[in-house]
Amino acid sequence: MLFSTVARRLTLSYTLLFGVLSLGAFLLVYVHIAHDLNQQTDDRLRATIRELVKTRAEGGRAGLEEEFSVESTATGKERVFFRLLDPAGRPVITSDLASWKSVLRSPLPLPKSGWRIDRLHAPGHEYPTRIITARLQDGSLLQAGVADDKDEVLESYRETFATVFLLTLVLGGIGAFLIARRAMAGVQEVTAAAARIAAGDLDQPISSGNRGAEIEALAAMFNRMQQRISGLINELKGVINNVAHDLRMPITRMRGVAETTLTRDADRASYRDMAVTVIEESDRLVGQINTILELAEIDAGLKVMTMERVDLARIVNMAVELYQPAAEDRDISLTVRVGRQPFPVTGDRNSLQRLLANLLDNAVKFTPAGGEITVTLRQENGCALLSVADNGPGIPPQDRERIFDRFYRGDASRSISGNGLGLALVRSIAQRHHGTVAVDSDGINGSCFLVRIPL
Ligand code: ADP
Repeated sequence: MLFSTVARRLTLSYTLLFGVLSLGAFLLVYVHIAHDLNQQTDDRLRATIRELVKTRAEGGRAGLEEEFSVESTATGKERVFFRLLDPAGRPVITSDLASWKSVLRSPLPLPKSGWRIDRLHAPGHEYPTRIITARLQDGSLLQAGVADDKDEVLESYRETFATVFLLTLVLGGIGAFLIARRAMAGVQEVTAAAARIAAGDLDQPISSGNRGAEIEALAAMFNRMQQRISGLINELKGVINNVAHDLRMPITRMRGVAETTLTRDADRASYRDMAVTVIEESDRLVGQINTILELAEIDAGLKVMTMERVDLARIVNMAVELYQPAAEDRDISLTVRVGRQPFPVTGDRNSLQRLLANLLDNAVKFTPAGGEITVTLRQENGCALLSVADNGPGIPPQDRERIFDRFYRGDASRSISGNGLGLALVRSIAQRHHGTVAVDSDGINGSCFLVRIPL
């Protein structure tokens, strides 16, 4: 494909543009010049007639005869002719008409009064003839004709233009090609770097340079993409390790319990304990796998959410009630500050329950015994503002951005069970409700998770 590259298309467009613009400019000038030249010839013809009328008035027939001869000799007998015609159009006095026979053979229309200008192109004459015929007061007619050689001027103009036009096209085309190629060189550079990235080299960013703002923006965007991809890959590696670890632990535990029960001469109660452990661990596993799937579904927009009017206050109260026993077990006080009034929001009931459960689960999990958790719900700036605050260890500054990433777990929480998916799910659910989630923590005195959902 001849015009498959942007550089070639730009070259073609520029060249066409040059061509059209110069053609337009030429036509404009051409029409002007042709018009002006016509005007000049006609003005000259009228002036000649006025002169001849004066000569006739002053010098009579002899004067006119002499003027015809002098004028035609001076200009060239083949370039001008003069005639005095009687009222019926028959010649009375003429200049030398030897070169004008073919022009005058065809009868010209004669004006009844005033004057008229005609243009004739007789065979054998190089140029057309412009003829003025004026009716004089006594009814006779004065006629003057000139070879209209303005075509010669116009032709030389046309030739000059054609040369300039071709030159413009060729030079313009070459110039346009060089400019387009230079502009595209940056794109090619970025493409080559992107190809490197595509081939798996994620460590070498595209260097910045002076390739123009758009190209630099493209390069910067590629670098960000590259960083993001390598971040995701690293995250994924970490996640796979975490998931493998998290999945292996319960399976190992189940196997251990089963093995011990089998090798021992176990009684019915031991088998029962084993079954309980297996059920608990299986539930944990299934829960974790479900969370991974749910998160993927929400992020891909595949999860069906039933958006309806729900009472958020009721959802909060129920969730707190559900976590009350777990909090009590760990000697944590769990307080809820929700007004008595219903708090209607548009949302998916199950997802909102999941969101709260994850925040409460974390709060109970990370807050040490004797701690406090407070859940509040109020309205602020057209949003439902839900906060879950605890006085646990808080979240160090370097973790605050990342805890919402999938599978990210704080270093301090390695010893605590979890899979790093809870907050990612909270964020996805908040976003599907057009809301946000943020954390407020000084990294020492507990943390406060704030979820905003537009009302
Ligand atoms: P998980 O709880 O399974 O580790 P999450 O996505 O729920 O995963 O949380 C991510 C990380 O955020 C946790 O590993 C922990 O470091 C930090 N975090 C979450 N909630 C709290 C909290 N209430 N107090 C302190 N740290 C928290």
